[in-house]
Amino acid sequence: MIMSASTDSPLTPAAPRAVRAWSAQSAASQLAPFSIQRRDPLPTDVVIDILYCGVCHSDLHTVRNEWRNTVYPVVPGHEIVGRVVKTGRDVKRFKEGDLAAVGCMVDSCGACSSCLSGLEQFCEQVATFTYNGTDKHLGGPTFGGYAESIVVDQAFTLRISANADLAATAPLLCAGITTYSPLRHWKVGPGQKVGIVGLGGLGHMGVKLARAFGAHVVLFTTSPGKAADALRLGAHEVVVSKNADEMGKHANSFDFILDAVSAAHDVNAYLSLLKLDGTLTLVGAPEAPLPVSAFNLIFGRRQFAGSLIGGIAETQEMLDFCAEHGIVSDIEIIGIQRINEAYERLLKGDVRYRFVIDMASLKS
Ligand code: NAP
Ligand code: ZN
Repeated sequence: MIMSASTDSPLTPAAPRAVRAWSAQSAASQLAPFSIQRRDPLPTDVVIDILYCGVCHSDLHTVRNEWRNTVYPVVPGHEIVGRVVKTGRDVKRFKEGDLAAVGCMVDSCGACSSCLSGLEQFCEQVATFTYNGTDKHLGGPTFGGYAESIVVDQAFTLRISANADLAATAPLLCAGITTYSPLRHWKVGPGQKVGIVGLGGLGHMGVKLARAFGAHVVLFTTSPGKAADALRLGAHEVVVSKNADEMGKHANSFDFILDAVSAAHDVNAYLSLLKLDGTLTLVGAPEAPLPVSAFNLIFGRRQFAGSLIGGIAETQEMLDFCAEHGIVSDIEIIGIQRINEAYERLLKGDVRYRFVIDMASLKS
């Protein structure tokens, strides 16, 4: 539905444009070609032709309505890299031809204490997420990056280096910032023993970043076949979490553990590895609640926490940090036609370590 302009509306009437995309029409349906509307650029908008879009496990949770909040049709994708093809008249930060990126949010209230502190992801009015949010301009759900193009306010558009490997940079927009932000918040650095749980999209970025921050990094995996990769990616040690003896050797020894697992698993096994005052932070978002034993918290005064992506300024800081340190994602590029197969592989933990869609495939 198109919102009509009224005298008290701050919005200019939008004249939407049809754009090719892939969507799911229900929790049971496969992703398939679809046409969506994108608004004409408002004065502070940037129009981006999407070159690459990473495939996050959140896309899969949402498509299959595992979090019970999906509005259909849904067009996922929040790891977006592309080229600016048009700008609104007041846009100063971008010009036609620039590279640009979009992550998990496209708007927020801009006035609450979270927004004013650069924590738009915790906006008190709820940030507008890149997909499955509420489109303030056109009405209905926001549509994400499995699409030809996107129109985003410049305030939610990120800069990427002209020398960047564009496909391998795309996953930084979610997997990168979601691991960077908690590692920074809990001040991970030299002299600390840090665990990363799950070697998927988020986990492999967590390993690279924790290593770059100078910590001693231990990767926990259910997949023994990923051990060699974990060491190559930067882990100092690898623990196969199904092996109780290996786990036991690390009891009471971690300063911080970041849990990036997408499915049900035993967090108590990790809480018991924290030392006094250690913290286990969840970034993984399995659909069902995770039981926690009180004794694992009260003995050792341990903390069990969570973290959600990162603010816009911190996302730019992360992109700049990664550019400076040569950090990108390890990816497998796919055409959009293979997206349903990629989801099945994600469900099996069979990802090395992020699928990225080459958006040129949308036109083939
Ligand atoms: P992913 O690439 O599919 O990786 C998840 C990894 O978890 C797998 O590779 C596997 O690693 C491990 N795993 C899977 N099933 C498991 C099970 N049953 N038991 C134990 N380990 C299992 O997913 P992702 O894209 O990194 O996302 C991970 C989670 O983070 C998802 O729930 C996603 O929605 C969430 N997320 C949260 C935020 C946030 O802001 N908090 C942002 C983005 C994503 P191993 O093979 O090494 O065991
Ligand atoms: Zn994501």
